[in-house]
Parts: sequence; C-alpha cells; structure tokens
Amino acid sequence: MANKFYSGFVSLVGRPNVGKSTLMNCLIGEKIAIISNKPQTTRNKITSILTKDDFQCVFLDTPGIHKAKHKLGEFMVRSAENTFNEVDLVLMLVEPLTEAHPLDRYVIERLEKVKTPVVLVINKIDTIEKDKLLEVIAHYSSLYPFAQVVPVSAMKGENTEQLLSVIKSYLPEGPQYFPADMVTDQPERQIAAEIIREKALYVLQDEIPHGIAVEIMSMKQRPQKDMVDVEATIYCERDSHKGIIIGKGGNMLKKIGSMARKDIERLLGSPIYLQLWVKVKKDWRDNDFLLKNFGYDKKKL
Ligand code: GDP
Ligand code: MG
Repeated sequence: MANKFYSGFVSLVGRPNVGKSTLMNCLIGEKIAIISNKPQTTRNKITSILTKDDFQCVFLDTPGIHKAKHKLGEFMVRSAENTFNEVDLVLMLVEPLTEAHPLDRYVIERLEKVKTPVVLVINKIDTIEKDKLLEVIAHYSSLYPFAQVVPVSAMKGENTEQLLSVIKSYLPEGPQYFPADMVTDQPERQIAAEIIREKALYVLQDEIPHGIAVEIMSMKQRPQKDMVDVEATIYCERDSHKGIIIGKGGNMLKKIGSMARKDIERLLGSPIYLQLWVKVKKDWRDNDFLLKNFGYDKKKL
C-alpha cells in the first residue's frame, strides 16, 4: 500500500523582526524571504513551498502585523488577517521574552476569533538561558490557548526538525500541489525588486526609514549571451532622499547595485547587468494607484 501524503497551508505571523524570514529560509533552505535587521522588510505575501517525501507545506509569509498608520499598513494588516481562517495552521512567532511585546499582544488580539489552531514558536532561544525558557512559555501560554509551543533558533537551526514534524501533524491528507523542486510562486522580478530594496535599506541604515519602493522596469536575456539586463527604479518620497540614495559621486547607488547584483545573479543563475535609477514620487504610501503598481492589489488581499 502506498504511504499517505499530507499537504496544506501554513500562515506565519509575528511582529516585525522576530525572525519570520530567517525561519522560512532555514526551513526551505534557500533565500526566498528577504532578511534584514530592519522591521517591515517583507512587504509582499511571499509563498514558499516545502516538499518532503511524505508532505508538502505551503507557507504564507505574512507581513509583520503592526498598527496601521497609513494605507500601506492597513493593507498589510488585512492581508495577514484574511489568511488565518483559510489555512490549516497558524504559526505565531515570538522572541523569548518574559513579558510579551505590545505588538505580540496586538497580534494575539487579531487571533482571537480565529478557528484555525495556532502553534506558538519561540524563536531566538540561542539568546537566553535554558531555565528562563519555562518562564517564557508560561507567560505566553497565559495570553492565548496555543495548540502547542515549540522553541527554536531559526538562525542556528536548533529544534527546527521538531517544528517540521509538529507542522506536518496539522496537515490533512492531500495531494502534492506544486512540483517538488518549486520553492516559491513569486515571480523572479518581484524577488529581484525585494533584493534591491533589502540592499538599499542595509546600505542607507536609518536615513530613509521605510520610504522606498523598488520596481523592476525590465529584465531581458541578452540575445546569444549568458547575460541578463535588469533595469530597476528606486522610488523615494523626497528630493533630499534622492540625493542620499545616490550618494557622493553616486557611491551609495553603486554600493546598492553591486550588492544586489550578486544576489540577483544567484537567483537567476546567470550574470546580470544591473542599471538602477532613483525617482521621487511623493506620498506613494498613501496612493492606491502606486501601491497597486508595487504589487499590492487590494482585491487580492
Ligand atoms: P522578520 O522581520 O520577522 O522577517 O525577521 P528577520 O528574519 O528579518 O530577522 C530579524 C533579525 O533577527 C535578523 O537580524 C536575524 O538575523 C535575527 N534572527 C532571526 N532568527 C534568529 C535566531 O534564531 N537567533 C538570533 N540570535 N537571531 C535571529
Ligand atoms: Mg521578514
């Protein structure tokens, strides 16, 4: 008799910076979600797919829930909330705190009416003493009836196998939805744009908090050559920001470009020629048209 196959959808939720992208990358083993030590890097709902011998799990890397400050915030919160009741399991990721962060409490409030089982994943256990862990578990368990609690270190890959078997236990019997070698359904363009955005945020440090968006204008294979031409535009909100992004003699933009180029080459598996432009678009975060342009389609959320 053939072995049973399990498949389903898992939504990953947690406030910014708890390690959602790192955990995704650790479980899937490839650079899908974008990692940065700045919050809110993951703006799009990135789907990553994990396929093992007897199960397939499709992860929805929901943007960090945070209190909506402007239109973009509302979109992010809604997109995260809507997925909870449609998935087989919700994973809530937190840091090993003995007093929950206010945003953890906010996330928990969003989970109140959710019928799907919620498993608490306590990440970054490499940063605390073992005996403190029990206190952390007790504290979070007092806030919400989590189905289970799994402590991990996404960075060190500690206890992540255990997490996988917990995840699997919530998946119903089902077909393999995607081919085994497919790790994401995100178009390469969108990933390339996220890579550039990640590098820009990294290079610019705290100078332009969250006020940039990246759009890939074109991505074309050069005829008869192992070379892809990529043109991208970095959008910012103010003229002064444009100057900062370009830098003295273009040195900032060059840095962003050369860092991004390496990652995009790995993504596409071929050398690229990357051209970057910087444009000012005022108040794009409050503009429905632009949000859509950057991949946030209201209808899909
Ligand atoms: P996200 O905003 O939830 O997607 O968080 P990220 O995955 O971008 O991670 C935020 C920061 O936490 C990064 O600097 C990671 O290197 C760090 N981080 C993630 N997981 C761990 C962990 O298990 N241990 C430690 N010490 N740091 C971690
Ligand atoms: Mg992230």
